[in-house]
Amino acid sequence: MAGVPSVFVRLAGCPLRCRWCDTKYAWDEAAGAEHNIGDIVEAVRQWPCKFIVITGGEPMINPDLPDLVRKLKPSGKHITIETAGIAFIPDMPCDLMSISPKLSNSTPSDRHLAAIHEGSRLDITVLQELIANYRYQLKFVVDSQGDLPEIQRTIEKIGNVDSQKVMLMPQAATRHELMAKSPMVVDMCKSTGFAFCQRLQILLWCDASPT
Ligand code: SF4
Repeated sequence: MAGVPSVFVRLAGCPLRCRWCDTKYAWDEAAGAEHNIGDIVEAVRQWPCKFIVITGGEPMINPDLPDLVRKLKPSGKHITIETAGIAFIPDMPCDLMSISPKLSNSTPSDRHLAAIHEGSRLDITVLQELIANYRYQLKFVVDSQGDLPEIQRTIEKIGNVDSQKVMLMPQAATRHELMAKSPMVVDMCKSTGFAFCQRLQILLWCDASPT
């Protein structure tokens, strides 16, 4: 859920290596500190907000994710899982699957990394399973005007996508970049009816991490 105070649980590990990734520190599965699920549930409980976002890295490749979600559920908080949509796990009691399929604009320049990325960034079957089994939103990161046909082709391939659940977000690492690209993305939203997705953390704190 955008714009509501939320507590974030960030899980380490992601194989994709997107060119513009803003959480490169979470790529390695050994990144961060190890916590048991009970400690995470207790830490989350102490925050007064009603929304939890489980993010990464790529949380859907973490074998402990289903257990974590089940143990967070009794808190009564709204649980969002943020994913690139590269893996499907059934029957998790989350409230929203925030799926961000990666476009070719995310391919890293390094040839070896590009091959890994291209081999796994888009799995249409997984995306179909996710939208069929979870309440969802589909969020595309837009770098340039030329991304729109690829977004539309991807949506068509997935099929049965509710266009009201599609969001476009400018690719930006700084406030300047965000402000420069936002009008282009707004125009895309006006022509397609998709929703504009803000990057509030960049608008407020630029590229510094909030405390
Ligand atoms: S999928 Fe997300 S966490 Fe993984 S490399 Fe891409 S932007 Fe970063």
